[in-house]
Amino acid sequence: MKNSNKCIVTGGAGFIGSNLCDRLLEQRFEVYCIDNFLTGNQKNISHLSKNPSFHFIKHDIISPLSQEVQKELDGTKCIYHLASPASPPQYRRYSIETLRVNSEGTFNILQIARQNGSKFLLASTSEVYGNPHVHPQKETYYGNVNTVGTRSCYDEAKRFAESLTMEFFRKFQLSIRIVRIFNTYGPRMQPDDGRVVSNFINQALSDKPLTIYGDGSQTRSFCYVSDMVEGLLIAGQKEGLDGEVINMGNPDEKTIKEIGEYILKLTGSKSHLMNVKDKEIDDPDRRKPDITKAKRLLQWQPQIPLSEGLIRTVDYFKKV
Ligand code: NAD
Ligand code: UDP
Repeated sequence: MKNSNKCIVTGGAGFIGSNLCDRLLEQRFEVYCIDNFLTGNQKNISHLSKNPSFHFIKHDIISPLSQEVQKELDGTKCIYHLASPASPPQYRRYSIETLRVNSEGTFNILQIARQNGSKFLLASTSEVYGNPHVHPQKETYYGNVNTVGTRSCYDEAKRFAESLTMEFFRKFQLSIRIVRIFNTYGPRMQPDDGRVVSNFINQALSDKPLTIYGDGSQTRSFCYVSDMVEGLLIAGQKEGLDGEVINMGNPDEKTIKEIGEYILKLTGSKSHLMNVKDKEIDDPDRRKPDITKAKRLLQWQPQIPLSEGLIRTVDYFKKV
């Protein structure tokens, strides 16, 4: 199985995962997408159903894969482990599921990687930095996370997943790499998943007030999905990355208010911004990735500016 071109994408029916499946198929991989549709959508992968190189396995990875499926996955070259709710309202709604998929689920998929000697990429998150005291965030920063707050089911689950993944590297020399993904947006975000970009675009398109939490001065740095996927493709396959932790995102930092104003302008909406509630406790005040390491190790950096990415995302939401 030395020349196998099999790869696994867990969470492959989700927003980032389905975009990643498309690109892996273009790279001539045999793609095994594992998903239970908890927060993903069959529509994201329906265009692939007739592609003979695309294989969909409906499965909750909290349980181990059957022997039969494991046999089918023999010789897997690389694994992209993305399965997990990602939007704050979703991970609060599915808090226990989020804790379990990142702990038990990650363990089950790491075992598959170990059996097959596959390269393994963990999709971690900027949330491991919590509400950061260091700005911009570098990989060496340990973070400021409330271990018992309403975001902890996600933050601590991802921190656990990172720890478990690192132990498979230390104990079994597994070829792992951890990518800390910063806010990503673009086509195939669920229109109703509650994240700021999808909320604002859908509100603007239907002339409803754009819901600002807090005073809108909190910042985020948004990466367009095609840039993220290109980075993940490289990170998941490149040699010499064993045990590395790499931030991935677009360092162009904006306040939430600026994002709202920009989306109003772009859509020509008659609507306006509205402060609807206080910001949640632990909702980070500032977030911006330091991507020096990604540039050095992967020769990667984002190419799509926010202005272009938002135009493409608005076009997508007009059609769905
Ligand atoms: P998403 O919710 O669209 O996709 C996640 C997918 O995982 C869904 O299709 C869901 O059904 C699947 N899934 C969840 N639990 C599962 C389980 N137990 N078994 C099988 N499948 C399961 O989210 P996304 O935005 O595409 O995020 C993908 C990954 O990237 C996540 O791990 C997330 O933590 C990480 N990430 C995303 C962002 C972002 O801005 N989108 C930022 C940081 C990290
Ligand atoms: N936010 C907002 N209005 C919304 C949705 C989100 O003001 O309708 C804010 C939220 O409080 C946070 C930021 O936008 O400060 C980004 O939120 P999102 O849920 O997209 O992702 P996060 O980075 O918090 O995981």
